[in-house]
Amino acid sequence: MKSILYIASQNVHKIEEIIDLLGDIFDVQTVFSLGLEEEIPETGFTLAENSMQKAAFIAAKYNITCLADDSGLEVEALGGKPGVFSARYAGEPKNDTANLQKLLHDLKGIANRQARFVTVLTFHHQGVFTQFSGEIVGSICEEPRGLSGFGYDPIFVPKGLSKTFAELTLAEKNQMAHRARAMQKFRAFINESVLL
Ligand code: IMP
Repeated sequence: MKSILYIASQNVHKIEEIIDLLGDIFDVQTVFSLGLEEEIPETGFTLAENSMQKAAFIAAKYNITCLADDSGLEVEALGGKPGVFSARYAGEPKNDTANLQKLLHDLKGIANRQARFVTVLTFHHQGVFTQFSGEIVGSICEEPRGLSGFGYDPIFVPKGLSKTFAELTLAEKNQMAHRARAMQKFRAFINESVLL
């Protein structure tokens, strides 16, 4: 029988990706099934801090094995922005379309379109927290393209491809993306450990 792993996230798109990435080895459950209604806090200044904060919040509240994900898009010409503030780049309330439109606006006329997505995962098991990171480099295109995925996917073109993440299937994105790369490290850790 597979062990239960709770995902310390309320982002349904992320959860869908994580189920695709880990569903073969874990019984992946959401915090919605625990009845959590309040928003999981993320008030840190780095992805690692936020990721730890999310895992620690769920661990403290429910004392369960869980995995948190904090991710962001870092754009070279904007000094790494939106980075840790990716979810709220255009302000409150969080809005994916407003965020990517603001980013395209901020990059208008700028030739350097280099960017990278970064993910920091935090795994909590019996009081021990372990982090894993993954990234993918690429560039920001001029106009949104594609309908799949979420967030900045319609404007991010991974290096070596001509399609945006939103023009790829979930399976194609999960073969190369930041979250998938962090997840490979997490899977290696799980395989090597005798924790579960
Ligand atoms: P957080 O990790 O929940 O703080 O969310 C970070 C924000 O980064 C999301 O709201 C998305 O806008 C963006 N983001 C994170 N991962 C991805 C991804 O895989 N594709 C597109 N956008 C993403």
